Amino acid sequence: MMLSPHFSLAEMIRSDTATSLGIANVPGDAEIANLQRLCIEVLEPVRAAAGQPVRVTSGLRVPALNRAVGGSARSDHIDGRAADIVIDVIPPRELAHLIRALGLPYRQLICEFGAWVHVSIPPAGEPPLREVLTATRIAGRTQYLQGIA
Ligand SMILES: [Zn+2]
Repeated sequence: MMLSPHFSLAEMIRSDTATSLGIANVPGDAEIANLQRLCIEVLEPVRAAAGQPVRVTSGLRVPALNRAVGGSARSDHIDGRAADIVIDVIPPRELAHLIRALGLPYRQLICEFGAWVHVSIPPAGEPPLREVLTATRIAGRTQYLQGIA
């Protein structure tokens, strides 16, 4: 099932961790609607601007999966409003700058550990906060810095 012209439901729910732990990472209607909004409002415009395929490394995470990967208890991944993405030929920092420059209706844009970009949308009907952060590990703890560091 395609959620948008270039993004499938399968890639938004695929998780090696879920598979290996036997966690059913299965969305309900509300999560599917959020994932679709994420694809249409953010991922498709990013793909179009970059002129390159966007690879989703983590999309939906049901609560059990989110716990298993150490995600925040209030993670936007839980209800399908966030994706961790990479574009193979664009470094994550550059990708974050590109997304910020597009002015898309995101809630949070986080360049995480120099390795991927987390982008989320607000709950339906809420305004996009467009918070931009960089996640880094300092002395083994995740710290969030303002902006794209
Ligand atoms: Zn994420």
